[in-house]
Amino acid sequence: MLDQSINRRNFLQFLGIGTATIGSGFAVPKIIAKTANGVLVESKSEYGGFQVEKLANGKYPYECDPDVLKRMSEKNNIFSRNSWDPARRNRPELTENLTYENLVKGEGKLPNQNRLDYALMAASWCASSIGSGWDIQSSRVRSMSFDRIGSWEPAGLDMTWEEASLAVKHAGLFFGASLAGIAKLNPLWLYSDNYAPSRMDRERAIPVLAEGDRFEQANDAWYIPESMNRVVAIAFEEDYIGIANSPGRLASAAVGNGYSRMAFTAFALAEFIRALGYRAIPAGNGVGLSIPIAVDAGLGQLGRQGLLVTPKYGPRVRLAKVITDMPLVADSPINFGVTEFCEVCKLCAEHCPSGAVSDGQRTWKGKSSANNPGVLKWYIYGEKCYDFNGFSCSNCKRVCPFNKPNNSWLHKMIRQIIKGRVGALNKLMVNLDQASGYGEEVQDTEFWMMDGYKSITARESM
Ligand code: SF4
Ligand code: SF4
Repeated sequence: MLDQSINRRNFLQFLGIGTATIGSGFAVPKIIAKTANGVLVESKSEYGGFQVEKLANGKYPYECDPDVLKRMSEKNNIFSRNSWDPARRNRPELTENLTYENLVKGEGKLPNQNRLDYALMAASWCASSIGSGWDIQSSRVRSMSFDRIGSWEPAGLDMTWEEASLAVKHAGLFFGASLAGIAKLNPLWLYSDNYAPSRMDRERAIPVLAEGDRFEQANDAWYIPESMNRVVAIAFEEDYIGIANSPGRLASAAVGNGYSRMAFTAFALAEFIRALGYRAIPAGNGVGLSIPIAVDAGLGQLGRQGLLVTPKYGPRVRLAKVITDMPLVADSPINFGVTEFCEVCKLCAEHCPSGAVSDGQRTWKGKSSANNPGVLKWYIYGEKCYDFNGFSCSNCKRVCPFNKPNNSWLHKMIRQIIKGRVGALNKLMVNLDQASGYGEEVQDTEFWMMDGYKSITARESM
């Protein structure tokens, strides 16, 4: 590592810019105390006011059974199974009919939605629809392409790897991510194969881990070499008011907007890394499991509803990732008391209209072949969730106390959890929060006519 930038670095540190912090701001997380597993820090800009334990020495905020946990086949996720699994062929009609005819023309018109909602929902997916997947056979470069564009050499980086890692995360934020973190890639989080419903897609690309430096397409497979052992996890805040409209169409628009931003940002970040001379594979939901990758990269913890819960935005995020061989410095996984809080809270289970969220204890295996066993967690019944309205619902994000901005009572409670002072959470706190009206469905008209509405890009935190 070359280091002729010491004066510049000191200057940046003077400004509060030159340390390895991420998120929307640049403030340095304040160190509160050392803990048994790492160090306790606090940062309003990065962690939304929560105290967060940064885990050290290879510790993670989850438990795995190494004898059971295997790479998951993409063929087994709920979207894939809908196209090949006979058990899913005769599935019930979606509880909600999301077609234009139903939503707009009026026959089965549902409350809390109008033509504006439908237009926002349809438009929100546009970039994602044209940008996801890869198109190797036709040689078209699409946003999630594995192809390397350009032939830059990895030379001329006048900085330490810590600084380069910070720069890569800042590039991710520049291109539109709300959070960025880096992890060493755990190969268990990569899919064991790729599945796409059409025969042509199936022949295209199967990510296969390979020894050495091989990175090529052969025998209808893309070989991902073990040298591509870093991953940049990026998260995209979904609109707070949009999600608050769930299960209305504005929530679906918030989700689609996240997918479209994922497509652009992952593509652009991969190109940035390639332009530095390294290989990069951008991916949305494909290639591997985004949630455990994001947990490893220190963006959050797994919640009862099976989603990543981040300190700053709660579960109101979408995820993407870029796999690379650039030797980036990994961030620490974090613990901020989500598991202990979820044990008592259960609001997502109570408000799930399909019964997909467990209200019981964590288990080592799920009830469905869409679940990958071997991790102690709350498994989601994916079939029930999908059959409600095809994943347009976001009730389990809407009601989550971690979703609430400026959540001072939760900040205080989590502090007590982390300090080990609260053995059993007081469910009364959760009930009081509900009684205050938080988590109720917001009518779409409130969104369209709101005085002073600010988009997620204009609003640091509400
Ligand atoms: S999205 Fe809706 S149906 Fe699916 S798990 Fe969440 S609350 Fe339940
Ligand atoms: S709603 Fe409650 S139980 Fe569900 S993920 Fe959020 S905190 Fe955990």
